[in-house]
Amino acid sequence: MFFPFGFGGYGLYLLFSLPALLLGLWAQIKVQSAFKKYSQVKSYTGLTGSEVARRMLDINGLSNVQVQPAQGFLSDHYDPRAKVLRLSAPVFQSNSLAAAGIAAHEAGHALQDQQGFAALQLRSWMVPSVQIGSWLGPIVFIVGLMMSTQTGTTIAWAGIGLFALTALFAVITLPVEFDASRRAKAWLSSSGVLYQQEMAGVNSVLDAAALTYVAGAIQAISTLMYYAFLLLGRSRDD
Ligand SMILES: [Zn+2]
Repeated sequence: MFFPFGFGGYGLYLLFSLPALLLGLWAQIKVQSAFKKYSQVKSYTGLTGSEVARRMLDINGLSNVQVQPAQGFLSDHYDPRAKVLRLSAPVFQSNSLAAAGIAAHEAGHALQDQQGFAALQLRSWMVPSVQIGSWLGPIVFIVGLMMSTQTGTTIAWAGIGLFALTALFAVITLPVEFDASRRAKAWLSSSGVLYQQEMAGVNSVLDAAALTYVAGAIQAISTLMYYAFLLLGRSRDD
């Protein structure tokens, strides 16, 4: 990523980010394989993803939230502004265990929104600043680092501060995602939509998805640590 720092910097970057990168890769493989496996296992009740989401929303007084089909693979999400739950084709129309799990997870986000779940609100509130900080932070950091003056060091720290928003965002995402999956599992097993012995498939898909968010958070934190390490190392050289 940062060739200006030569092989020393690049090796250091790998040292900081390789564990998180490998964890992320492993989590991706787990999600894909769990989804592939349990998208082929039909539920006994035979409800499609859209029907599962509709039921969970209605029973919780969220008839106003629409369930719509979305483009793209695993692009399922809840849009808090539009109050729309969008499910990808393999989830929307499928009556598989994977589809039921993902649909209920997204409905879980709608419930969080309804109840004013603090971490979700904070996360939504942070989105604009994170979108700026994620690309501007590294640029400001590099500019500051190349200036090699005291002002440059201050600018580089400001870049780290901007990028820290991204890491904070990734950490706040964790309770939001864990809670949505917890709600999905609890409702699927208590509502009669799935039988107890079907829950293993849902757990497998949702737990693998949760792991990708953990990997994302570790990745953001290790990148942040790498920036700080580079800057502190340079200060010692001066
Ligand atoms: Zn989610």
